[in-house]
Amino acid sequence: MKAIRRFTVRPVLPDALKPLSDLARNLRWSWQAETRDLFRSVDPERWAAAGGDPVRLLGSVPSARLAELAGDRRFLRRLSAAADDLADYTSGDRWYQSQERSAELPAAIAYFSPEFGITAALPQYSGGLGILAGDHLKAASDLGVPLIGVGLLYRHGYFRQSLSRDGWQQEHYPVLDPHELALAPLTEEDGTPCHVTLALPGGRRLTARIWLARVGRIPLLLLDSDVEENDLGERDVTDRLYGGGSEHRLLQEMLLGIGGVRAVRTYCRLTGHPAPEVFHTNEGHAGFLGLERIAELSDAGLDFDAALEAVRAGTVFTTHTPVPAGIDRFDRELVARHFGPDAELPGIDVHRILHLGMESYAGGEPNLFNMAVMGLRLGQRANGVSLLHGHVSREMFSGLWPGFDAEEVPITSVTNGVHAPTWVAPEVVRLGARQIGAQRAEDAMTVGGSDRWDSVADIADQDIWELRRVLREKLVLEVRTRLRASWRQRGAGTAELGWIDDVLDPDVLTIGFARRVPSYKRLTLMLRDRDRLMELLLHPERPVQIVVAGKAHPADDGGKRLIQELVRFADDPRVRHRIVFLPDYGMAMAQKLYPGCDVWLNNPLRPLEACGTSGMKAALNGCLNLSVLDGWWDEWYQPDFGWAIPTADGAATDDDRRDELEAAALYDLLEHRVAPRFYERGRGGLPDRWIQMVRQTLTHLGPKVLAGRMVREYVERLYAPAARAHRALTPEAARELAAWKARVRGAWSRVTVEHVETSSAADRADRAELGASLGVRVRVGLGELAPDDVEVQVVSGRVDAEDRIADASVVPLKPAGGGEEGRWVYEGPLSLDRAGPFGYTVRILPSHPLLASPTELGLLAVPPEGAGEGAGVLMR
Ligand SMILES: *Cc1c(COP(=O)(O)O)cnc(C)c1O
Repeated sequence: MKAIRRFTVRPVLPDALKPLSDLARNLRWSWQAETRDLFRSVDPERWAAAGGDPVRLLGSVPSARLAELAGDRRFLRRLSAAADDLADYTSGDRWYQSQERSAELPAAIAYFSPEFGITAALPQYSGGLGILAGDHLKAASDLGVPLIGVGLLYRHGYFRQSLSRDGWQQEHYPVLDPHELALAPLTEEDGTPCHVTLALPGGRRLTARIWLARVGRIPLLLLDSDVEENDLGERDVTDRLYGGGSEHRLLQEMLLGIGGVRAVRTYCRLTGHPAPEVFHTNEGHAGFLGLERIAELSDAGLDFDAALEAVRAGTVFTTHTPVPAGIDRFDRELVARHFGPDAELPGIDVHRILHLGMESYAGGEPNLFNMAVMGLRLGQRANGVSLLHGHVSREMFSGLWPGFDAEEVPITSVTNGVHAPTWVAPEVVRLGARQIGAQRAEDAMTVGGSDRWDSVADIADQDIWELRRVLREKLVLEVRTRLRASWRQRGAGTAELGWIDDVLDPDVLTIGFARRVPSYKRLTLMLRDRDRLMELLLHPERPVQIVVAGKAHPADDGGKRLIQELVRFADDPRVRHRIVFLPDYGMAMAQKLYPGCDVWLNNPLRPLEACGTSGMKAALNGCLNLSVLDGWWDEWYQPDFGWAIPTADGAATDDDRRDELEAAALYDLLEHRVAPRFYERGRGGLPDRWIQMVRQTLTHLGPKVLAGRMVREYVERLYAPAARAHRALTPEAARELAAWKARVRGAWSRVTVEHVETSSAADRADRAELGASLGVRVRVGLGELAPDDVEVQVVSGRVDAEDRIADASVVPLKPAGGGEEGRWVYEGPLSLDRAGPFGYTVRILPSHPLLASPTELGLLAVPPEGAGEGAGVLMR
């Protein structure tokens, strides 16, 4: 029979066990093995049935067992130790508080993301972007960085995946009841739940309640539109992650950005938490947060332009996509309808809003509103997520800075990292702790530091190899369990499934490949030559076995076809003991998968993997990477500890040919390099060279791939400067800066480089000598601007065949007189510091102490084309 109504009856814990409730409601348990062990010992069977979720566990334990534990002195001692540890963790000083100038660091940072992957028990993520956000919060917590997370609570999260008999992806959307998750409603002092409300066109309203999750020290606010105050349509706004059409997405993003800022204000008012000085948006989806803050400042009396300056100063925008197709864009009309007098932010002129998202560059779509473009206009600081992706992003957005070389586009990069305490298997942590002590092992995983990781070099070969065997065997057992469940689900009876007992072998080289299934990740590249793959799997002495997993977006039939191809191959009785596809890839599976694999395979189409993080998690467990040189691997790969699959990118090769070449390279590597190294044995009977690569993976990559390293970089390179800029922009300073920008933009057409000359004749000769120095003298016209408003620079360096300057060095020139009718003379030295073809040019940029970069305004004056000697002089 079906219930007509459901609600949640909360367990009543005996007083002595009350601390269990706090421990269950702080998600720190998800990266703290001791606390999980404590919960497991409450009731091991129910713990397993609850999928390792403490809230569900406590909801299912019978009162008799609770009464028994309340009298168990040993259990109570462990409980009080765990509770004390959590209290110390959440209140004591950590890395952030011990920084020399900690008072100058931001008092708080609000971190917005459309998804957060913290634990499988709070399934509010689809893949890398969300898990990165979860790792960011956890690392911030470990370091004591005062972050407030902001996101949406999706009633169905992302979908759960299963397979049909013939291998077609099936999607399920289980309902998540917030009362059964580690969430508490944010309430006013009198206990009434807090809400945020948005005005929608046609007099409709969108209301959301605010749930609070605790992620160690970090509060995470999640907005949920499934409330009675809403009409049916509005209740569904937070139904699914990345579901629905364009208007649905727009409403989600308005709720996240605008509602999110309102939720942060409510949270700070109720708790006394300091107001954020920096707002960080993880990808463009939350970009509307900048508009809400402009509206706040407008209410406080600033005009739009001054408010824009103040907001930009304290905003950080992280882009995650390397292709224009990956960017969120809305119909301009749709956006126009949702803002303005009878909708949201009535105080802001809609045209100003539309302009912020306008693709105002060559090839831009005039009718689309681009969230990344708005992100760049609303954030003074922006970054990509690996060195290579920073480069790709600067190219991709260079249209917004016309006239500048892509390398000067003000987008930097911070390479992603992963939260080691979440992703390192307990067995690996224990071995590390045995080597250097528990505290240092924990510090190595959170704060980092290569000295702590260097001690891995002293761990005995035997210990490393035994650990690898243990982890591989655990994975084999896990795979069999999951595969059996999947086949049952696909309709097989027990009698048909005896073969599953022999699936995978704990002594065979194990390769993992698991990720979402967009086409650029090339799930089926390994199937390119099936005979060749089969030979590798069934090799008599050096076989390999492969574990594959991944979800295709529900609307992506192409991706589902790839999954089906792979499943059908893996169903073949000739190879099914050596290759498996596991449905429902998620954090719980991932935590078992990375440690158990020997090799982590990644074969995206370069450079479409912005960073990639699964290989980092694998590396932290001593799994070796075999990957295309893309994302983070392009940055940190060394042949001492992994393999690079050569890429056949270049205009001459079409996609099909490229797949063929890269697949062949992959098979060759596996056959001739990877497998022989795994199976060769040294004198002591161990694969010495393999073990050495495991060790190098840990010592070289361990300290780099950490989310702690990433968050420290965000603090030092982005949050701290953004907080300083934010503080400098008092209302007067913001007005002054806005007025200055308007004046400079208005006067720029009259800024010109009129004449350039050098004091020596050397540049007119065919040769100039390395180490010589020339005097450069430039006459410029500044129109109504003064020398204080600009910087005149000489840019020099090696030149290519088209006279383009590479690796330019930029030296400012000094004013040396003039001033009549806006004409000024500038002078300075130019040193010939590079041998070979050399060239220089002169340019003028706006200059103001409150600009983060002189390229910020996108204004530039260079010598006119064909101005002879003045137009960039070349020496060969
Ligand atoms: C780490 C992780 C990802 C991201 O992996 P990529 O290598 O960036 O594709 C996706 N899903 C899960 C469950 C993960 O743990």
